Amino acid sequence: MWSDEKGPMVSKHAPTLRFLGAAGTVTGSRTLLDTGDTRILVDCGLFQGRKHLRMMNWDPFPVEPESIDAVLLTHAHLDHCGYLPRLVRLGFRGPVYCTEGTRRLAEIILADSGHLQEEQAAHANRHGYSRHDPALPLYTEEDAQRCLLLFNTVEFDAPVDLGSAVDATFLGAGHILGAASVALDLQRPSIRAVFSGDLGRPNHPLLLPPETIDHADVAVVESTYGDEEHLEEHPQADLAEAIETAFEMGGMALIPAFAVDRTEVVLHHLDRLVAEGRLPDVPVFLDSPMANRALEVYQDAATRCSPEMRPEMHGRRLFRSLRLEPIRSVDESKELNHRDGPMIIISASGMATGGRVVHHLIHRVGDERNVVIMVGFQAPGTRGDRLVRGEHNVKMLGGYHQVHARILRIDMSTHADQSELIDWVTTSSPLPRTVYVHHGEPEASQALADALHEEFGLSAITPAKDEVVRMDPVSWT
Ligand SMILES: [Zn+2]
Repeated sequence: MWSDEKGPMVSKHAPTLRFLGAAGTVTGSRTLLDTGDTRILVDCGLFQGRKHLRMMNWDPFPVEPESIDAVLLTHAHLDHCGYLPRLVRLGFRGPVYCTEGTRRLAEIILADSGHLQEEQAAHANRHGYSRHDPALPLYTEEDAQRCLLLFNTVEFDAPVDLGSAVDATFLGAGHILGAASVALDLQRPSIRAVFSGDLGRPNHPLLLPPETIDHADVAVVESTYGDEEHLEEHPQADLAEAIETAFEMGGMALIPAFAVDRTEVVLHHLDRLVAEGRLPDVPVFLDSPMANRALEVYQDAATRCSPEMRPEMHGRRLFRSLRLEPIRSVDESKELNHRDGPMIIISASGMATGGRVVHHLIHRVGDERNVVIMVGFQAPGTRGDRLVRGEHNVKMLGGYHQVHARILRIDMSTHADQSELIDWVTTSSPLPRTVYVHHGEPEASQALADALHEEFGLSAITPAKDEVVRMDPVSWT
């Protein structure tokens, strides 16, 4: 495939990138770097969302899993690490490199994902729908546990020798705890390729902003918000106003939140408001087993002064102004239904598509004194999206429920917007020779590629799925 009759022979050992996922979509991050001597997979994510995407997780993996020498994980979100147990099930046996924060969060998230896959397969068998008979899980909780044995933790900013003349350096990405961009330094030929992973925002209250690149010959950058600028937000003032209004009416506040990171961001803002006397010291119930476990990981990172955390968090008990009450068992969760008066319940999932928050919505959404605060992106068609759009009747657990509570969206996104993505790419000096824009809806990726080209004259490409590209400058010599 490398010879071209009209052109020169291309070395079989030309280093290449192959975009195995997150091309034209925001999930399934998997990029294969092949030097000819070694194969490194950067991220190993699940395809998520619409059915045709989820079905892609069942496609044969495009290269032999046992031929991959190492996997590098940028962070613990499922669209970046959630395929790993499957890859191990299919034969991958190499090391998995990631930061300590990513390892600890992935332990929680992957085990839960395996458990969920098993539950969904069992559910499909009970109700007789599946393309497999019997329905099979993509992987089990045991598969997830097994893949965790391959994990090797690395420090930020310290090069790791991957063998075959390739080093990897994990740079802070400020997106969630443990999140990193990855720089791969190839020695023969000398090429530095930097993969953004998911980039956070400079205003994350707990994590430091994304690190600069230094230099990159090739950059692979995400584009979740490649066509958007975040508005100037005042989440604390907006939260205070919404919650105070509900309390004055005798109501409560319900906040659906993603279990990892978004919960910590919400808790931080509430903590500041209570500390400054802008909100009364009411009980804050954190009703999600995963969120409570993730919170322990964040607390440990603060205690051990993790370098990705803002210095003011070092050695500190997080959210100490809050009367925070973790809710773990289902019975404790149900008991909350009998409580009235001023209080805050934070529960997953963030788009109210499932999880315990659905029960709380059923119980609270009919009361006009209450406020429901959505704190992140609501994918079109999800229950959270319907609520935010002001639908008067919302279907939950098979029945319709009238919405009388006040519904608000206060954006606390932890994804960089277009300007912030451009800022990151252009910290490279000199600018990258080629930028591959992936991990976005097609319009978002194209908008970022266009902006990089128009403002900086960069060669910015939106690669197709499974496209292979050479990383070295192609010459006719
Ligand atoms: Zn992410």
